[in-house]
Amino acid sequence: MERPVFPYSPNAYAISFEEVAGVCDCCGEPRTLRYLCSFHCAGDAPDYLCPWCIADGRAAASYEGEFTGWSDIEGVSPDPADPPPTIARELLLEICERTPGYSSWQQSVWLSHCERPCAFLGFAGSEDLLPILDQVRPDVAEVNPRDADWLLEHLSRDGEMVGCLFQCLQCGQHRLHVDLG
Ligand SMILES: [Zn+2]
Ligand SMILES: [Zn+2]
Repeated sequence: MERPVFPYSPNAYAISFEEVAGVCDCCGEPRTLRYLCSFHCAGDAPDYLCPWCIADGRAAASYEGEFTGWSDIEGVSPDPADPPPTIARELLLEICERTPGYSSWQQSVWLSHCERPCAFLGFAGSEDLLPILDQVRPDVAEVNPRDADWLLEHLSRDGEMVGCLFQCLQCGQHRLHVDLG
């Protein structure tokens, strides 16, 4: 059975799932891929979610949950009094309800570009970023104006200062969110 594709998390199987046999709490099917990352829902969180139930929205609907919070997407204000986001609602819902999230120290952030959510490529360390430094430095400098260069030299894929790398599916621009443990 072919695995579902997640356009906004193209490396999801390396990042957000583990290979372990079990029965999906949502569809009841025996599966070999278990979702590992964030899922916010009101009741008890399911222990085993399969990628199929994430991709078709069934898990989000059954548990009234979301993998990434609505206002964790860049361009969406948590304040309902603010103007509505300029990103199309269906694209925002695709991130919240049908795209695996990623693990983070702090509240996760989903970056946007060209009026749409970016794709999450994965975790990046300083060396990974060298070829695209000019693209991602402004993102780091905006949040950490004084320490940007130091931070960029000390990021790792799995340490306490992690680069979360995104890419715009429209224009190819890379974006970076720094997650500090
Ligand atoms: Zn399932
Ligand atoms: Zn773009």
